[in-house]
Amino acid sequence: MTIDGGMTTGKVLAQAAALGVPEHMQRMIGRCSEFHTYSAPGLVMGVFMVDWAMEGLHATPGEKLFAVSETRKCLPDALQVIAHCTIGNNRLRVLNAGRFAIAMNRPSTAATSEGVRISVDSARLEAFPTLRAWFMHDRAFDRKTMTGPLFEEILGGGRRFLAFERVMVRFDPKQEWSAGRCDCCGEAVPKTLLRAGVCAACGDQRYYEPQEF
Ligand SMILES: [Zn+2]
Repeated sequence: MTIDGGMTTGKVLAQAAALGVPEHMQRMIGRCSEFHTYSAPGLVMGVFMVDWAMEGLHATPGEKLFAVSETRKCLPDALQVIAHCTIGNNRLRVLNAGRFAIAMNRPSTAATSEGVRISVDSARLEAFPTLRAWFMHDRAFDRKTMTGPLFEEILGGGRRFLAFERVMVRFDPKQEWSAGRCDCCGEAVPKTLLRAGVCAACGDQRYYEPQEF
């Protein structure tokens, strides 16, 4: 798939190789792009972020880890593909805080776990004018002519526009549950998720109306 400025995953990968991005990172960019359906700039940033977080945790390949994405954009896919923290295995929490940042930690039986957080460092971003313009949604960013240079700054910059910190990550305690039934739709739902006997999809998260044919 071609994105702005004629960029394709193939072109992004060629640019990565030319800029000396390590081969294992190139492979991750390829795998993430395939999953995401295209090489988004934020996704490529995410590859560097997840790589740094896993290195910071001294994680071994295949190790069971937990992750938080503070945005819905791009970063959840990098975490799912590289670290196998997925929505479905419940090891990925996605916040809609809008901060382009992730945190990762190991499992813990305590209420907190030592982890690492990677974010975009606004002071360091000043050294990357094209990336800064794109990241800040600046009107000066011209998608047609500046997308190539944008990838060049991301791939050449690597970790140099990011910040790394050690954090204590809070866990939601695992809740015991038993099956109940929604008074409205009659479908089986964990009792802990019923509100006044009604499931969320029959309540404030109702998203469809039944159709009669
Ligand atoms: Zn219901």
